Amino acid sequence: MLDDLKLQISGLRAAMAALEPDGEKREELSSRALAHAAAYLDEVPDAPTNRPWAEVFSRRLDPEFAEEGRDAAEVFDYVAACVDRPGFATTSPRFMAYIPGGGLFHSALGDFLAAVSNKYSGFASASPGAVRLENATTQWLANVIGYPAEAAGTLTSGGSIANLTAVVAARDAKDPEGGGAVYATRFAHHCVDKALHISGRGKSPRRMIATDERYRMSVEALEEALEQDQAAGIRPWLVIASAGTVDTGAVDPLDNIASLCRRYGAWFHVDGAYGGLFALCDDGRRLLSGIDRADSVALDPHKTLFLPYGTGAVLVRDGRHLLEAFSASAEYIRPLGDSEVGPSPADLSPELTRHFRALRLWLPLQIAGLSAFRAAQAEKLALARYFHARLKEIDRFDPGPTPDLSVVAFRYRPTSGDPDDFNERLLRHVQEEGRVMLSGTRIDGRYTLRCAILSFRTHIEDVDEAVAALLRGAARLEG
Ligand SMILES: *Cc1c(COP(=O)(O)O)cnc(C)c1O
Repeated sequence: MLDDLKLQISGLRAAMAALEPDGEKREELSSRALAHAAAYLDEVPDAPTNRPWAEVFSRRLDPEFAEEGRDAAEVFDYVAACVDRPGFATTSPRFMAYIPGGGLFHSALGDFLAAVSNKYSGFASASPGAVRLENATTQWLANVIGYPAEAAGTLTSGGSIANLTAVVAARDAKDPEGGGAVYATRFAHHCVDKALHISGRGKSPRRMIATDERYRMSVEALEEALEQDQAAGIRPWLVIASAGTVDTGAVDPLDNIASLCRRYGAWFHVDGAYGGLFALCDDGRRLLSGIDRADSVALDPHKTLFLPYGTGAVLVRDGRHLLEAFSASAEYIRPLGDSEVGPSPADLSPELTRHFRALRLWLPLQIAGLSAFRAAQAEKLALARYFHARLKEIDRFDPGPTPDLSVVAFRYRPTSGDPDDFNERLLRHVQEEGRVMLSGTRIDGRYTLRCAILSFRTHIEDVDEAVAALLRGAARLEG
């Protein structure tokens, strides 16, 4: 009986050997992966920003999931042809659509190291070094926005979960029974609606606060709404301001909003997923004045610190609120306790087991140095002003308001026909051409084009190319 079992086990062990490549095989696989990455990066400067979907099916793996392993070269080739190429090239210097980021190479190496050591970053007791990096990194982010030492935060998968986490902390702190009112402008990101819905506050009284001529929250309108609710016996719960809206990059007047929130006892949350981290550079910090007075802030290092997708951050000014909302008493873990490295990420977020995210942020900050990040951000702000100034010189463009941050929302004024339709077609022309990627939005019904300059790879010649692509497209459509 025992012998049979031993025989069976040794057979299984032989059959699973492919899961543990030996030194030579590891060398072969990793040099293949590195060569693949290098070839990809060599193409980045000139590759189109938009490639056809048909490329997804330019090759097939047949059967898609085979019992026997394939030759690694074949698998990597498949990824290059059918995954890396089709669709948007978010790594391109000419990708200026939505909110870009670029994807730092150092972060890819950080992910590799995090996956190899597989450190358990949920609890300090399991990996004090990993949790120390998580905490050092969130404390650094807290410093960047000017938060005090008692702030706490955690790295999330992105801005949506960061906003959700903040809304849950705000709910537990200020709206445990429900019924409190929520205030935001029509430019609040739709993930805020999701966050309210998931946190059981989707039916809270909502006040849509008017904006000024530059699409920033009107302080007067907010005060009026707060006053009216208070007079009607409705408790102001949560004010959600934007530090950089997705549509136009507008920064709400954070300082004045903070004062109103104090006066009316509301929780002040800032969605800074796009713009909050511009606080790292001098120009940005001035624009974001008052962000340090928010009760909570959502950030997205995968945008404004150029990381590959998969890293947001939430910070809560009084860290106890985050701990109170998310520290669960998992008895089998708790006795191990926390250590002097600080709170465990699992006590500050809905996640338990998680990706060791800090390394992909910490590594580039260490290796490239902070000044490179500050310069890159300042360059993006200047490039947005440059793009705006260039459009201003061209007769038929309405360049819109001077950008607060690095998004320019603009329109082309066609000689005839419906301008909304024309702008939509102009965007499609530029996108299909594939040289420069821009995006569009509707602002109060008007179709508006957007140029969002945020990739660390985007430099002045790329912005000039964007102007050239628009002029080419407009000339073609004007016939
Ligand atoms: C990107 C963004 C979000 C959503 O963040 P994800 O990382 O995409 O989940 C929320 N708010 C703003 C202002 C954003 O720019």
